[in-house]
Amino acid sequence: MQVFREIKPLRAYLDAKRAEQATIGLVPTMGALHEGHLSLVKGSVDDNDITVTSIFVNPVQFNNPGDLAHYPRTLDEDLAMLQRYKGQVVFHPSANEVYKQEPMITLGFGPLGKTLEGQFRPGHFHGVGMVVAKLFNIVKPHRAYFGQKDLQQFAVIRRLVEDFSFDVELKCMPIIREPDGLALSSRNKRLDPDERQKAAKLYEALGIAHDLYRRRVSPDQVKKEVEGFFSMSDVTLEYFEIVNASSLNPLQSTFANEPVALCIAAYVGEVRLIDNLIIGNEY
Ligand code: AMP
Repeated sequence: MQVFREIKPLRAYLDAKRAEQATIGLVPTMGALHEGHLSLVKGSVDDNDITVTSIFVNPVQFNNPGDLAHYPRTLDEDLAMLQRYKGQVVFHPSANEVYKQEPMITLGFGPLGKTLEGQFRPGHFHGVGMVVAKLFNIVKPHRAYFGQKDLQQFAVIRRLVEDFSFDVELKCMPIIREPDGLALSSRNKRLDPDERQKAAKLYEALGIAHDLYRRRVSPDQVKKEVEGFFSMSDVTLEYFEIVNASSLNPLQSTFANEPVALCIAAYVGEVRLIDNLIIGNEY
């Protein structure tokens, strides 16, 4: 396994590999790796000769300084996990290496960046787009792997690739969950045992909503039911929306013949968690 902290030697290493016709997969992460991240790594290892896993807690995408300060950092464990996979290259730069200067460009993503997470995390997708664009230019991957867990992030990156004509194939990988349905997340490490138990309510709510949706209950009514479900609990719902899984526009009716996503964000104590469920497999 090769570990790089600087861009220049990483570029030189990958240029040489590309000259030997090696294919390169990129898995961008913020570290504190879990089986969700590793499913992306596995996907890349299956498809490519080399997998570059980046481990970088990107300051620009955090709108909440407390969230950035408390974000778990477990580099030694992360490297031990990645050691198990063939063709591993790890890119673990400092913030100064990635952002020599504060970017002058601002990425907006129009309505796609304003809905769902965008309403509650101003500047978040600017930060995500900026770091992913940098990683695409540094690594020049053939393929890049992202999780459906961050559905809006995937939609935004798809537009980034389209709008800037990046020559990369995007892969959206399924959500890996705990046995009780909680989506794996680095932030789960911050939950105490009581909060950890309560965190399963996000997935429970998605299940209830899915059931209602299947019974053709209107999107507005499904929303009300989900809000009611959380009103009695100490998990604080931030939003629940039923949207088109690609455009992320709110759905008007349950009879719509389009791929649908149920999206949720909630606070369990201090920890903000997100999850989603895609209905149908047209995505
Ligand atoms: P993060 O380190 O949280 O920025 O996540 C890095 C990548 O892993 C993103 O593309 C996430 O969508 C993906 N990811 C995070 N959690 C999961 C999960 N439970 N299942 C699958 N992919 C995930």
